Amino acid sequence: MDDCIFCRIAGGDIPSDIVLEDADFVAFRDINPKAAQHVLVIPREHIVSLNDLDGRAGDVGHRLLQFIVKVATAVGVVESGYRALTNVGPDGGQEVQHLHFHILGGEELEDF
Ligand code: AMP
Ligand code: ZN
Repeated sequence: MDDCIFCRIAGGDIPSDIVLEDADFVAFRDINPKAAQHVLVIPREHIVSLNDLDGRAGDVGHRLLQFIVKVATAVGVVESGYRALTNVGPDGGQEVQHLHFHILGGEELEDF
């Protein structure tokens, strides 16, 4: 989708600070970090939100979770701990309409 900023990042049309990528997923640093480590994980495929994962071929949800752990390892937080969260819809505060998980860590995070 040409008008989706995360599709354009996945396609390399918009520069980003990529941490890890494979054929299906891309992890890049959030432009407005909320923690010492703040990385976004997206599927290359345009999926709007967690609500749209169900029924996708290839067990994409499970592989996405596995990729998140690889990202946590790559940025050095897998042992110290981290938070993986996805905002869904208006009340969830989802600003970009392309599924993404925030990986936050590198410091003790505040309760929420
Ligand atoms: P959300 O509110 O969950 O939709 O989060 C969207 C996130 O995308 C925010 O944390 C933004 O800082 C981040 N973001 C928006 N544009 C970019 C960009 N071009 N590169 C990296 N992160 C971005
Ligand atoms: Zn997209």
